[in-house]
Amino acid sequence: MVDLKRIHELPAILANQISAGEVVERPASVVKELVENAIDAHSTEIDITVEDSGLKVIKVVDDGDGIDSSQVQTAFLRHATSKITEQRDLFRVRTLGFRGEALPSISSVSNVELKTSTGSVGTEVVFKGGKFISQQASESRKGTTVIVSSLFYNTPARLKYLSSPNTELSKISDIVNRLALSHPEVSFSFISNGRELLRTSGRGDLLQVLGAIYGVKTVSKMQPIKSKTPDISIDGYVSLPELTRSSRNYISLILNGRYVRNFPLTKSVINGYGSKLMIGRFPIAVVNISADPALIDVNVHPTKQEVRISEEPKIGGMLSNAIREMLADKQLIPDATRDF
Ligand code: ADP
Ligand code: MG
Repeated sequence: MVDLKRIHELPAILANQISAGEVVERPASVVKELVENAIDAHSTEIDITVEDSGLKVIKVVDDGDGIDSSQVQTAFLRHATSKITEQRDLFRVRTLGFRGEALPSISSVSNVELKTSTGSVGTEVVFKGGKFISQQASESRKGTTVIVSSLFYNTPARLKYLSSPNTELSKISDIVNRLALSHPEVSFSFISNGRELLRTSGRGDLLQVLGAIYGVKTVSKMQPIKSKTPDISIDGYVSLPELTRSSRNYISLILNGRYVRNFPLTKSVINGYGSKLMIGRFPIAVVNISADPALIDVNVHPTKQEVRISEEPKIGGMLSNAIREMLADKQLIPDATRDF
């Protein structure tokens, strides 16, 4: 029987599996964490492949900075990160990651093969169920490849809780789309069971990414918006009132390069349309918000999709106004071009 009075530190693998409960909810979470690592490593091209909705294989190949062979095993330790060093760094996070939890969490509930090179010699490490298996020299192309297989093989309860393969795949697709929208300067490809579901050019053109995701016809009904103050700048594309969806899910908010969920700001986007939207209909929107990192607390939630923003009402007001102005301008155009 468990002695409830004996307090002891948990073994690392068990501690990592507990973190994994929060960080690695489903295959889409693995994709998100691996791609965010690739973005943080300054990659220009990120190729994502999944098999069987990510349960069999998730592979992310990047051409980023790579990890030095002396550091590769450290990357799998809990709270091991290269992205922050001291407490005040927490208030000026510019990278997507900083908690040092993804690799140890993912590897505790799957098998992971990581090949990486900073440009000279390459290294390959293998972890199974959180246990280090091997490290050896490998090919030397700059960048990192992570292959995650047999996800949740050792956590049957988690496997059971997952939705249907189609739903899990659509959740992966959704996260890949938002990562691509957040980083038009990166060329993404996403292949599922041999079928290409997304490819972006990496030319930095948000409209091109929107077209790749939602189709060219949709994009023709979207308009640019812009707003700027000394410490906050907003730009993006929002749909005209004639192009709507039945869910708020098509409103993507990107805060300093991070896709975030934020109800008040989503509401501000909708409010910008005033009475121009029918009840139960919502716009398509991709909005980039750049703000001083000191205004944002990203250390609120393990997956960092929820953040606290100290200037939220101000940003919300800017968003609604920018949309209102765009719609007012649009109404003026037919008048301006009318034949007299
Ligand atoms: P975090 O991203 O919070 O730092 P992770 O567990 O995701 O924590 O990764 C640990 C470390 O491993 C990172 O800080 C980074 O130095 C390194 N790393 C992980 N993935 C990559 C990658 N694709 N390219 C370069 N370095 C990586
Ligand atoms: Mg990370």
